[in-house]
Amino acid sequence: MPVLALLDGTIADPTHPLVRVDDLGLMRGDGIFETVLVVDGKPRELEPHFDRLVRSAAMLDMPEPSRAGFDRATRAVLGNWTGGPEIALKWVYTRGVEGGDGTPTGFALGLEIADKVKRQRADGIAAVTLDRGFDADAAARAPWLLLGAKTLSYAVNMAALREADRRGAEEVIFTTSDGAVLEGPTSTLIAVSGRTLRTPPATIGILPGTTQAALFRAAEREGWSVKVEPIRVPELTEADGVFLASSVRKVTRVHTIDGTQLTDSTALHGELVRLYDSEY
Ligand code: PLP
Repeated sequence: MPVLALLDGTIADPTHPLVRVDDLGLMRGDGIFETVLVVDGKPRELEPHFDRLVRSAAMLDMPEPSRAGFDRATRAVLGNWTGGPEIALKWVYTRGVEGGDGTPTGFALGLEIADKVKRQRADGIAAVTLDRGFDADAAARAPWLLLGAKTLSYAVNMAALREADRRGAEEVIFTTSDGAVLEGPTSTLIAVSGRTLRTPPATIGILPGTTQAALFRAAEREGWSVKVEPIRVPELTEADGVFLASSVRKVTRVHTIDGTQLTDSTALHGELVRLYDSEY
């Protein structure tokens, strides 16, 4: 059963209406969110998630989210959780109601991890590359596109997943119009060659991933080299392994890209999962 809490720490019924119909988060997707993984009652990467919420709010010219408010809501969700050992904890923060006084709407919602995600963590996924329609300089040239902000406007990301499904795959690797690798619709891409982990820089218009950062931290500590640098699409099929990382999916192995089966990276995946888990 989902658990919903408001920023004053009050628990609310998630099956009852809460948000006004003229809330700009609902009307225009005008707002931001974060999804934090909680394992055995302990939130992972809490600080980086909150920092990213603040960064997204700044990019959207929204008031700075209250740390105390989201902490209260988080504690209330965790304290009332009766489900499994893992929680996908969502923080939602919208611009508030149309024509209102600008007070944002905020809440935290605890959800079970979907069975599909658990299956993908274990079995890996087939992905397709899809053009995101902008080039690698767009984020700097056109900041109003909000590339790299975690906004509630995920309709495009969800449409891309449906396109992947039509093409017989479960996931998407977005690319720029000039052939650089971006990210998944809800994940960060990591390519591994030998003992080197690589991920594209956030400056090309993607979200800086908290899971990727945690994995890179652990890997570096154990002597791997880590690089944040542009990756071209053909480099994916040449890598020893390609992975999609996010709070909820953790580190998931990509076994097929655009119908081409990649080198078997099952053993490598095991090593990366161990590294990631060693952070907690
Ligand atoms: N990129 C996008 C577009 C995302 O939506 C997400 C998470 O949902 C990520 C990357 C991965 O971020 P994190 O590892 O912080 O969950």
